[in-house]
Amino acid sequence: MSLASDIDVVVIGGGIVGLSTARALSHDGRGVLVIDEGRNAGTNANAGSLHVQMQSRFLRMYPDQIGNLEYSLPLYPRAVATWQQLARDLNADFELKISGGLMVAEDAAQFAFLKEKAERERALGLDVHMLERNELMAIAPYLGEEIYGAELCVTEGKLNPLLANSALRRAVLAQGVMIATETVVSALEQRDAGYSVSTFHGEVRCKTLVLAAGAGTGALSAHLGVTIPTVAEPLHMNVTEATSPLILHLVQHAERMITLKQLGAGQVVIGGGWPARFEGPKDFPTVEPDSLIGNLSLAQHVVPRLSRLRLIRTWAGVNTTCDGQCVLGTLPGHSNAFVAVPGDAGYTLGPLVGDMTAAIIAGRDPGFDVRPFSASRFARA
Ligand SMILES: Cc1cc2nc3c(=O)[nH]c(=O)nc-3n(C[C@H](O)[C@H](O)[C@H](O)COP(=O)(O)OP(=O)(O)OC[C@H]3O[C@@H](n4cnc5c(N)ncnc54)[C@H](O)[C@@H]3O)c2cc1C
Repeated sequence: MSLASDIDVVVIGGGIVGLSTARALSHDGRGVLVIDEGRNAGTNANAGSLHVQMQSRFLRMYPDQIGNLEYSLPLYPRAVATWQQLARDLNADFELKISGGLMVAEDAAQFAFLKEKAERERALGLDVHMLERNELMAIAPYLGEEIYGAELCVTEGKLNPLLANSALRRAVLAQGVMIATETVVSALEQRDAGYSVSTFHGEVRCKTLVLAAGAGTGALSAHLGVTIPTVAEPLHMNVTEATSPLILHLVQHAERMITLKQLGAGQVVIGGGWPARFEGPKDFPTVEPDSLIGNLSLAQHVVPRLSRLRLIRTWAGVNTTCDGQCVLGTLPGHSNAFVAVPGDAGYTLGPLVGDMTAAIIAGRDPGFDVRPFSASRFARA
């Protein structure tokens, strides 16, 4: 395959952020080529939860990042609204449902932790409520006997990422965006007024460059002299066979790593950040048997009726972690190279981050003070 040698904008990364950025740039009249080393973008590995409330997993694992998480919190309800707008714009049914998210507690101490979290979140504008067990059972009778209460976040929800990604990809292609898959970007160089992008299929030159390569962004930005400490985090997922409607909400736990939701076709998707591992010379994410068992055992504990279902598929995917905040804006020292890495729950943020990136490139207001998201914070660090 040969690549077009001169193009207006090259977006590296065809995940949710890269495709969303390409869509918005193309609406602005820019000619766009998306390059991705995979056949399908990394985003296909995710669970399709639309997160709004702070995930206790992050609060417990990275207490030093709580300030960053709180600063970014107002982005999450907007990100959900952007997904709703995207479904309307694409006229696509990707099973998007904003049916609320429950974070469950198993004892008074966990409930108190959630209550304090809810107060902080409410102060930052989130629509969250605490539910005692009797109130909780009235809306979520599928939860187990051990569940003491929960925090309800009204604007959380879920979608089917396989359907959403294909709808977005179709729309982007129909707009005239070019997508080069199975094409690794091996080097980047600033040349004349633009950039030279070296791939295994040849060189492409562009005026504007967008790094939306998830965990691969750090290695790419290093070619341009900028440090962005993106880290690849391999994570585990399970999905059960289909059953009749059982779980309405997105379900999480105050202290333990679990997310649960039911797809439109009836399968229950179970994840929550259990580790997978990298294996082989190319570091493919590989399932960790302990995670499979641990994740499913916990799921059955939270929703006992899951024990009657068979597991039909399990997989591992690569998440990106950085410092709990988006990395957005121009690359320091470059006026025509931009970075677009979402903060935590990056699939939720994806379409919004794409729109914000296109706005920044066009010189429009992205609608949020993105200065703390600048990659220059790593240079300072
Ligand atoms: C198992 C799992 C479950 C998850 N569940 C959820 C969830 O339910 N809700 C949620 O909000 N988030 C979830 N996430 C997180 C979410 O998937 C990511 O934050 C999101 O996919 C990030 O999107 P992205 O477009 O920035 O990056 P990615 O989707 O990772 O895309 C980056 C792309 O860049 C390409 N690339 C990298 N380097 C190069 C290079 N040198 N040359 C060419 N291409 C390159 C990669 O091939 C990749 O396709 C989950 C993650 C995992 C792993």
